[in-house]
Amino acid sequence: MYDVVIIGKGPAGAQAGIYLGRAGFKTLIVYKDGGSLSKTDFIENYYGYAEAISAEKLLNEGILQAKRFNVDFIEDEIVMLQTDEENKVLVKGLKKDYTASYAIIAAGMTRKSLNVPGLKDFEGRGISYCVTCDGFFFRNRKVAIIGYTKFAEHELNDLLMFTKQAFLITNGKELEFDASVYKEVTVIDKPIASIYGEDTIKGISFKDGSNEDFDGIFVAYGTADASSFCVKSGIATEKSRIIVDENLMTNIDRIYAAGDCIGSYMQVAAAVADGAIAARSVTERLKADRKTARKKD
Ligand SMILES: Cc1cc2nc3c(=O)[nH]c(=O)nc-3n(C[C@H](O)[C@H](O)[C@H](O)COP(=O)(O)OP(=O)(O)OC[C@H]3O[C@@H](n4cnc5c(N)ncnc54)[C@H](O)[C@@H]3O)c2cc1C
Repeated sequence: MYDVVIIGKGPAGAQAGIYLGRAGFKTLIVYKDGGSLSKTDFIENYYGYAEAISAEKLLNEGILQAKRFNVDFIEDEIVMLQTDEENKVLVKGLKKDYTASYAIIAAGMTRKSLNVPGLKDFEGRGISYCVTCDGFFFRNRKVAIIGYTKFAEHELNDLLMFTKQAFLITNGKELEFDASVYKEVTVIDKPIASIYGEDTIKGISFKDGSNEDFDGIFVAYGTADASSFCVKSGIATEKSRIIVDENLMTNIDRIYAAGDCIGSYMQVAAAVADGAIAARSVTERLKADRKTARKKD
């Protein structure tokens, strides 16, 4: 069990890890990739570098610095967070689950990668992003999951608890897992043209001119981003940004958020500042918890 699990190894997550690790707290950073810094070449407006610094180098230096303070790093994709009555946060990954007293979400900016006509129109009217939340409404109905990655497989496993009439729509993408083990699932690998319906969704039109009717559609396209795992976890968001208070705590006790995912300035300097503030808030909570525990002994 960790004191803190941080989701994301970018500037916000690594900075939070540096403070927490240096303060002696058992800290884990779980990440799925290099985040925004791995999508650019050079940074020349971050404090302390007279010359442009390679974005990759800046990212890796932050990670090495956190490792120097004994922060653990694990590559995994987080799909959900839960808290329990024993004041623990369960952070669920595709590979395994992690338990901590606190979590900091530093998962960067959400980029919705599926853009299909009709999708937005039917959100909440037959289209959902969370099988755990809404799968029950579609029990024994004909339901599609749009997706092709391990994240889609995770959602498919949840869906099969509610219905055996499950379809996997890859939108022309190659499957990244072996779907043949799910005998009851029909895979359609044609590109999507649009989603149709009236008051609620009725089905999917494909680019080859064919249609398939559905009662419900779940979107699990690409990898799990902050907004998708927040919806599943009951963490409040507004316009895909996590809502936090002045201490950077979300609406759920013990879960904090920092960096681009809370809609800061979307710059390294702001992400680093958020990471420091979230770490300070969590440090204060951990110190208070330890004081309470000492009084009980
Ligand atoms: C092309 C480009 C150019 C830029 N140029 C500049 C610039 O010149 N100057 C500047 O200051 N800023 C620049 N930025 C912005 C800067 O990179 C970001 O503001 C900063 O990286 C945000 O840090 P972050 O820690 O909040 O998120 P990120 O750096 O995006 O890190 C997010 C982390 O969360 C992880 N994550 C997300 N979802 C999950 C999940 N489900 N499970 C596990 N891990 C997850 C990711 O793997 C990643 O490790 C640029 C960004 C881009 C894209």
